[in-house]
Amino acid sequence: MSDCLFCKILAGEIPADIVYEDDKMLVFKDLYPKAEVHLLAIPRVHITSLNEVSDEHDEIIAHMIKQLPKLAKEQGLKDGFRTIINTGKGGGQVVFHLHMHLLGGSNLPGFQ
Ligand code: AMP
Ligand code: ZN
Repeated sequence: MSDCLFCKILAGEIPADIVYEDDKMLVFKDLYPKAEVHLLAIPRVHITSLNEVSDEHDEIIAHMIKQLPKLAKEQGLKDGFRTIINTGKGGGQVVFHLHMHLLGGSNLPGFQ
């Protein structure tokens, strides 16, 4: 996806503050953090949103979800964390490459 912001980050064409990566996913700091800790976890393959997830992505999605608690602990979030996946315009999705927000820390916002 040549015009996808997160694909450009994956390709190294746009800088990002990367905190974790493996063969299936990349995790970096949100450029406009909404909490003390605000990470974005993305699959290496371009999946537009949760609407486009299918059986072929089972391994990737399970792997990503299982990494989140480890990442939270590494960020010092010992008491817990929040995970958000915005889907489609109606869900507040702005970047159309599937991403899981991982938020936590002292200034964790509400759902407003
Ligand atoms: P969403 O509204 O779920 O699509 O979230 C997109 C997120 O991407 C927002 O929280 C933005 O702050 C974040 N964002 C936008 N551009 C960048 C960027 N270049 N690097 C890191 N995060 C970004
Ligand atoms: Zn993409």
